[in-house]
Formats: sequence, C-alpha cells, structure tokens
Amino acid sequence: MTLGQNIKKYRTQKGLSQNDLSEKLNVTYQAVSRWENDQVEPSVDTLRKMSSIFGCSIDDLLSVTDDVTPKETNEQETPTVHYVYQETKAQLALCHDCNKPIYTSEDIHRMKVVTRPAGRGHSAETREDIVCTSCYNKRVKAAQDKMKREQDEYIRSLKVRRIHSFIWPLLALAITVIVGIVLINKGQKDAGIYTLVGGGLFYFWLADVILYNNCVGDVFINIATWSIKLPGVIFTLDLDGIFFLIFVKVLGAILSFIVSVLATIFGFIISAAIGVFIYPFALGKNIKGTPDQLN
Ligand SMILES: [Zn+2]
Repeated sequence: MTLGQNIKKYRTQKGLSQNDLSEKLNVTYQAVSRWENDQVEPSVDTLRKMSSIFGCSIDDLLSVTDDVTPKETNEQETPTVHYVYQETKAQLALCHDCNKPIYTSEDIHRMKVVTRPAGRGHSAETREDIVCTSCYNKRVKAAQDKMKREQDEYIRSLKVRRIHSFIWPLLALAITVIVGIVLINKGQKDAGIYTLVGGGLFYFWLADVILYNNCVGDVFINIATWSIKLPGVIFTLDLDGIFFLIFVKVLGAILSFIVSVLATIFGFIISAAIGVFIYPFALGKNIKGTPDQLN
C-alpha cells in the first residue's frame, strides 16, 4: 500500500471525511485529496499529527507492505523510499561536571578521582568521572594550578627552613665561642677547646637537623633512644627480700639513666661527625629545592 492509500484507510476507519481531516490538520481538503492520490506527500510534522489523530504510528502510515502478499509484488520494481528517518544522534554519556550530553567518543574523558586516600589497612578509594572536553580541560588546568601553588608553597617552606638553619646554629655557635674563650682565658685550656670543638660540631648538627633533608636527625634519634632491657627480679616476700627488690630497682633506674645519657652523647657525636660532611649537600639540596623527605 502507498502512503496515500494508508491515509485513506486510516481516515475511513476513523469515520472521518477528507474535510474533517483537513480541518483537524488545518489544511485544505484538496491537500488531503492530493495526499491520498499520492500526488504530493505530507510533511513530517503533518504525518506526526495524523498518526496521533489516527492512533497509529508514523511507521504504520508509511508501511508499504501492509495487505500486500509477496506474490503480488513485482520483483523488478525498485522500492521507493517515502520517508527517511532523521537519525537522532546517540547520546553516549552525560558530562559529570556540566551535565551536557556527550555524543562522540572523542569528547569522552574518563577521570579517576581519589575519594579516600590510601591509609592504614585500606587502599585508596577512587571513582571514575566522565567529563566532556571543555570540563576536562578545566579540570586539568585546576590541577596544574594546584600543583603550581603547592610547588611555590614548598619552595617557600624550604627558604624558611634555610633561614632558620643559619640563625639558630649561628646563635649557638656564638654562645659556645664566648664560653670557650672565657674558659681558655681562665686557664682551663682543655675545657675551652672541647667547648669550641663541640660548638663547631653542634653548628653543623643543628643546621642539618633544621634543613631536614638528610639522615642526621634520624641517626641521632636511632642511637639516642638505645636502651637496656632489665631482667625481672626474683625476691622473697620478707623485709630482706623487699629491700633487695628496692635496691635492684633503684640500681636499674640509675643504670638505664646512664645508658640513655651515654646513648644521647654518642648519638650526637656520631650524627654530628656525619653531619659535618653532609652539610654542604643538605644546603645544596635545599637551595636547588630537591623534593626529599617533605613532611
Ligand atoms: Zn562538561
């Protein structure tokens, strides 16, 4: 059946005259007549209206095979296309940020977002956002800006640390130099020299610790926290036994104290000795802004 025949069929099924239909569609009845005679074809908009009046689909109106048995079709005949669908663009996704539909795969950007950073006993939780190219560029720009700000902040913090690494060690050095000279003048030459050497070591040690980008602080802490583990005490529950317990406990406490003082001194000497050689590198790293041991 042709489009015209279909229109006629549905119109009569609805009990409408050509005039009735033309009024409903706001066209002349001649127009309806021409459609039904396949002289002209109605517009897509009119087809849509007609399908709603007839209670059928546009497909039904355009259907050319209806009521036609295969025997009756002339196989030589080229089928005519009455209507070509305007293919609606397939919407592939919605942009997470601007909520606009995305139609092409090139415009799809999948971005991994960390919703919870990795921590004790759990790995990082992430989600994936689909964003359009313009929002993708915005996000990249924002991330770059953030990185730039952090970098600037880091460089600034290094500078502050560098200034502190000059001020406090110099202050300490000045004090030890004064004390050393006073001691030497008072005739205590050995004590004066030890103070000066110690002050010199302390200068580098403190500077390294403040610069923070080296192992000096760690070496010191590791050695200074050395301790001894005292064994349990077996005693009898009488006066002698309790005195024995108190004696052993006090002795243990004194021993622990001596050990920790010695460990601190030893830790200082070792880490300061290393620190003298490390200092130029630590200062160089700080000036170059090498990211290391950032806390
Ligand atoms: Zn977007």
